[in-house]
Amino acid sequence: MPCPFCMIASGIPASPSPPVLTSKFGSAYPVLSTPTVIAFLDIAPIARGHVLLCPRQHSSKVIGLSPQESAAIGFWLPILSRAVMKAVHGQEGEGGSWNILQANGAEAGQTVPHTHFHIIPRAGASGTEVGKSEMTDAERKNLVLGEGPRAKLEDAEGQELSKLINHEIVKEVTGLEEQGFILSSQDNAPCMKIEGRELKL
Ligand SMILES: [Zn+2]
Repeated sequence: MPCPFCMIASGIPASPSPPVLTSKFGSAYPVLSTPTVIAFLDIAPIARGHVLLCPRQHSSKVIGLSPQESAAIGFWLPILSRAVMKAVHGQEGEGGSWNILQANGAEAGQTVPHTHFHIIPRAGASGTEVGKSEMTDAERKNLVLGEGPRAKLEDAEGQELSKLINHEIVKEVTGLEEQGFILSSQDNAPCMKIEGRELKL
C-alpha cells in the first residue's frame, strides 16, 4: 500500500491555486502546494477547516525533516492558521482558538506514517464554536489528541472550503511579496533569500 500523502503530493503539482485531485482512492482538497510542502483538508475532519500540512518528500517522523523543510513548515504554520481562521470564522484568529498538533509513531497516535501537522480550528473570537460547546475535560483532551468525533468530508464542502482557504493564503502571500519579505520564483514557489541563498518555501 503506497503512502497516501506521497500519492497526494505526486498528484498535485506546485501551484498558487492547486486544483482538487480526484483518483480511484478518493478526492484530495489542497489549499497550498509548493515544491517543498503541501497542505490539504483532512478527509475526516475533527472540525470544519481541519487542515494537514506536510513535506512533499516522504519522511515518517519530524526528525526526518531537512533544514529546508523545517524552515518551510515553520514559515507556513502561522500563515495557514490565519487563513484557516479567516475562512472558517471570518477573522484571522486573534482571540480565536485552534490547535496545531503533530504525532510521531503509532503509540503517539500517528496513523499515516508521513510527517504531518494538523491545524484544527476550535472557536472564533466571539466564541462561535466549531465542535461541541459543552465538553468535559476528558472529552476536550480526547479532541486535542485527535480522538474526537470525526465525520467524512463531503465533496461539495471540500470543494468550497479548499477554495476559501486557498484564497486567504494567496492574499497572505501577495501581502508578504508586496512588503518584500518573500520573492516569487518561476516555478510558483514563494522563496526567501537568506545570506544570498534561495530558500524555497
Ligand atoms: Zn509519504
